Amino acid sequence: MLAIFALRIALTPIMGSQAPLLPFILAVLGAGIIGGFGPAITATFLVALLATLQFADWSYGPNAVAWLGHVTFFIAIGTSVTVILHRLQVAMRAQQHAVSLARAAETKAADSEAQLRLVADGVPVSICYVDAERRYRFTNRRASEWFKKPTHQLQGLEVREVVGEENYSRISSKIDDVLAGHAVKFSAPMSLALGLRHISAYYVPDVAPDGRVRGFFELVDDVTERIHAEAELRATARQRDQFLAMLAHELRNPLQSIRFATDLLRGQGSDLAMVRRNVEVVHKHTAALTRLVDELLEVTRVTHGTIRLRKQAVSINDVLRNALESVRPTFKLKHQTINGNLSDETLMLDADPLRLSQAFGNILANAAQYSPADSVVSVSVEAAIAEVIVRISDQGLGIAPGDLPHVFDLFMRANHSFGDGNGGIGVGLTLAKKLVELHGGRIDAQSDGPGRGSVFTVRLARISPEATKDPTPLLHKLERDKNLR
Ligand code: ADP
Repeated sequence: MLAIFALRIALTPIMGSQAPLLPFILAVLGAGIIGGFGPAITATFLVALLATLQFADWSYGPNAVAWLGHVTFFIAIGTSVTVILHRLQVAMRAQQHAVSLARAAETKAADSEAQLRLVADGVPVSICYVDAERRYRFTNRRASEWFKKPTHQLQGLEVREVVGEENYSRISSKIDDVLAGHAVKFSAPMSLALGLRHISAYYVPDVAPDGRVRGFFELVDDVTERIHAEAELRATARQRDQFLAMLAHELRNPLQSIRFATDLLRGQGSDLAMVRRNVEVVHKHTAALTRLVDELLEVTRVTHGTIRLRKQAVSINDVLRNALESVRPTFKLKHQTINGNLSDETLMLDADPLRLSQAFGNILANAAQYSPADSVVSVSVEAAIAEVIVRISDQGLGIAPGDLPHVFDLFMRANHSFGDGNGGIGVGLTLAKKLVELHGGRIDAQSDGPGRGSVFTVRLARISPEATKDPTPLLHKLERDKNLR
């Protein structure tokens, strides 16, 4: 203000008393811009006072009124400029405040969306928001994996287009329900990028304050594994129940015979022939019971992995001969013939001879058991590049296609009824499979159906014949191992 004052005085020789106050409007403006309302109004009145002192022509009486007019006019303009400036400043400040508030809100919204995405992407379920037009507005990482599309591509796409017609037909009525304002929970099969899966879904409507449904949140979980595990648990429970029923039958028959025999022994103690006969009955049935319990213990040991193999270099022919030896009495009893085509070549394995013979013995015993009298059971050995393949085929009952995948299951008995005395307790093949697998081999069963015989194939890894330098004959080894166990 003082600078303008000095400038105006300096210009007096040029301007004279013309518009003495006009430049001071700049001073008022400057004071207003820099200092605000107070300084601007002070500047207005200060200018009026100083200008009056400096420029008023006191000697020129009649012009005093005109000067008063100048001053009044200047004060009016100065006050108006001050007020307008003040208003403008207030409005500007308000606008700046609003802008910074909006910016803060924007940052906060971006932060919370980032947090939401972090959480949504971290969970192993699909989370989406779908609007009332059935278009995806938010999708998490799992949804992208299921639909094989990145998040930004899913934005705005219609549900129908994304999930495909087949899936959409399963969920469209659920979407109708949720858009009508009802929470929906359902499970259904869905074909996703990972294949056919079973999903469990939860749809929650997004209701605006006016009651309008703006869209819905969907939370979808893949429960395929759980459903399979539940089915497996149910099957295991069913199998266990069947086993218990069967075991009760199997135990009941020998126990009844033993009881009957001991009753007779008590009453007819003096008749030696009768005593002998009944002791024989007791012996036979306790032997059967012991075998039953042994098999159960054995299978428990194998399934719990507590069996230790005593591996050594051994020829497949020796293993098979030993297995055939153990089942010969059963074959003799039914007048069955074993047709053995063992290998001419020495095919060596790294195996526990006793355990492997046991596996083949079980398969051979079944072949005898489930084949008619006078039938033929064939055993053949084939040498593949790295494997030995053993096939045991019979002309017996055969296995129905539905039973084939289950013959190696524990307690599985396919083609005979409980208590007919014509079979074991369904552990023989489970044991054989586990033992072959413990040796790193594979076993499978084939049959053309009931009455068409069965073929069991066992594949085991070969080792080079040089690996065997142990001259101890197998039967000696078996005896030695038996004593060790
Ligand atoms: P099991 O002790 O009842 O013989 P396994 O585990 O040895 O039990 O066999 C399971 C089931 O597989 C048998 O009950 C039988 O129904 C069927 N099976 C096994 N071997 C044969 C075979 N050679 N021919 C026909 N059925 C067989």
